[in-house]
Amino acid sequence: MNGSKELNRRDFIKISSLFLAGTAAMSTMTTKAFSGGNSAHAEEGGREEQVVHSLCEHCFWRCGIAAHVRNGTIYKITGSKYHPLSNGKLCPRGTGGIGQIYDPDRLAHPLIRETKGGKSTFRKATWDEAISFTAEKLFAIKEKYGPEAIAMLHHGYGYTFFKKMLMSFGVNKFSKPSFDFCCGPRHQGYTLTYGHGAGTPEGIDIINSKYILFFGAHFGENMHNTAVQEISEGIRRGLRIVVFDPRFSTLAGKADKWLPIKPGTDIAMLQALTNVLITENLYDREFVAEYTIGFEELRSEIEKMTPEKASVITDISADDIREIARTFAHHAPAAAVHPGRRTQWYGDGTQRSRSMAILNALVGNYKMKGGMVKYEKFKMPKGETHHYPEFHKKIWSKYPLFVKGKPENSIASHEVIEQTLDERIKAWLVYGVNVPETITLGRKIALEAINKVDFLVAVDTLPMEVTGYADVVLPECTYLERYDDLDKGRPYRTPYVALRQPVVEPMYDSKPGNQIAAMLANKLGLQGVFEEDVETYLDKKLKKAGSSLAEVKKTGVLLGKPTDLYRKPDKKLTFKTPSGKIELASSQLREAGFDAVPRYIRHPEPPQGFYRMLTGRKPMLTFGRTANNRFLNELPTAKENEVWVNTHVARKHSLDHGEYVRLKNQAGVVSEFPIKVKVTERIRQDAVYMVHGYGHNYKKLQWAYGKGASHNELVSDTEVDKAIGAVGFQNNFVTFIKEA
Ligand code: SF4
Repeated sequence: MNGSKELNRRDFIKISSLFLAGTAAMSTMTTKAFSGGNSAHAEEGGREEQVVHSLCEHCFWRCGIAAHVRNGTIYKITGSKYHPLSNGKLCPRGTGGIGQIYDPDRLAHPLIRETKGGKSTFRKATWDEAISFTAEKLFAIKEKYGPEAIAMLHHGYGYTFFKKMLMSFGVNKFSKPSFDFCCGPRHQGYTLTYGHGAGTPEGIDIINSKYILFFGAHFGENMHNTAVQEISEGIRRGLRIVVFDPRFSTLAGKADKWLPIKPGTDIAMLQALTNVLITENLYDREFVAEYTIGFEELRSEIEKMTPEKASVITDISADDIREIARTFAHHAPAAAVHPGRRTQWYGDGTQRSRSMAILNALVGNYKMKGGMVKYEKFKMPKGETHHYPEFHKKIWSKYPLFVKGKPENSIASHEVIEQTLDERIKAWLVYGVNVPETITLGRKIALEAINKVDFLVAVDTLPMEVTGYADVVLPECTYLERYDDLDKGRPYRTPYVALRQPVVEPMYDSKPGNQIAAMLANKLGLQGVFEEDVETYLDKKLKKAGSSLAEVKKTGVLLGKPTDLYRKPDKKLTFKTPSGKIELASSQLREAGFDAVPRYIRHPEPPQGFYRMLTGRKPMLTFGRTANNRFLNELPTAKENEVWVNTHVARKHSLDHGEYVRLKNQAGVVSEFPIKVKVTERIRQDAVYMVHGYGHNYKKLQWAYGKGASHNELVSDTEVDKAIGAVGFQNNFVTFIKEA
């Protein structure tokens, strides 16, 4: 690295196959079962099998897994019957973990970038060299510019040890890009309204509900294990669902009613439903009077949004709007609006989430059977407090209602990019985030920032686009080979804490994150931050909770007392909002200069001949985590993404089902790879749809390279939610370029 500032200073390096695990190495490699494995039994035929209960890492949900090991090799991963979130089952991605651990493309050695004669290459380094070099660079940057010049971008639970190390070093710029556009807006939307977030799993009593409205939520394609199981169980028990979505999704296939709403008009629809509840007196008057504030302000805002007016905006008939509102009220309180996931679309995600929260409040479904519930977390006794420099508490985001109070999320991801471009941030530690394909400002701006940063260290298991731009690559072993910090558990019906434990020993020259972070801490002079080995550390934590590591290793979980879900008639509800009530009109939004009650705002329309680019996911892939998973990519429907084009639009552009086209966006960006056309009636005429996470242009991703088109590459225009700083990217439009 020469420190000069020309734009292409950080050129992309293809990681030589010499530094990857390699197919040959794979075939001769015998993994060793981890000695801590918990149970062994003789299978039929006398073969010994060991089953280790741990946690999935193919998405953030963290289901419990049972990894089956025979002769030192993991041959099957199933759902843990002990873990409340998996309930004995996994989604397709969860079962595909073997594809990650035995991927021949795995990063096998630490690498350091070397630039000679203007040409960059990676060289294989020892751990000591790579860690010393990283520590030296971080020290130098902190000395010269202060700790605020260092930022961490992270995804995945394994980041916690790195966070502890960096926070002890004084760093306090942490960003989780996925949170910004996924759960951030709804977390804040619900918190402003109820005083707490919407929860993961979402606080909806799905299995006991009679009627649930979903707005663009793609359950079934977005396979959040527990939620999908609950929806199936709910439907079996008689739940009726209504799906508002411009596209006939998998969930719409299960719905009583699919309403192909015009994209960008959800707030208008939610207001119209609210309008019917209020004007027809269908809301819970008692509940609203006792537990909410701002009703009159809400009424005066929504009375303008009659079903007739909303019908013109949303393309959904006024009759349908009335019928749905009435049915919703009829089933209340066993009815709910689901808060959805990926809730930042057009820059008004916080208000859109609030509109849903408000509709729930009006029918008084809070803590009622089949309505909204508030799951509890496992009550973990307080551990020893680690004393960080005071500095770590600072929130860097400039957005007034940025989700605060969590040091691991102190700045929005697009602010990290901006502060890198204006040279306030000089170094990145990137943990599990494939920046060029993840940052919602689009690939181009992400690459500009990568070119600008002075030092980039990437911790990952597989080569990704981002590792090719790193100065140092630290190969972490996979989630099947390591301990992570104790999973404090998600609030759920049965609260729990869970353990990620190694199933087999780390392969190649990879190491667990806890060891990498401890090595870095030592080199940074932070002795004492990781005083004990990880097993002692976990054992101490679990003993405080009345168990032990040895005990929890057997099932992978420690269960608490089931959540008391429903309201007691004699017990008053309390809410942690400034007023102590559900805020239909939000005092915090008003104080920060925003609309206290959600207001519908029109979003840009597609230019002539262009179509709004909608995006989603496939059940077997989770973007970066599974992009190059051989087994998952071999599934016929996972190989590539397709662009869904309405039949009428296809005719207009002379497109045939199955032909390949390139997509061109409104700014003239053309997709690097062609994408297959899926001609279908299942999408509106003003939009096209493609799954995110395809079109990788890094040849070392041998299962993912060149498959389909990249969604992120086609993002040129974004809208920032001015309240919380999350970026919406659905104001991008594409047209088709036919392949020669
Ligand atoms: Fe793994 Fe699927 Fe559970 Fe996510 S939802 S943690 S990918 S099993």
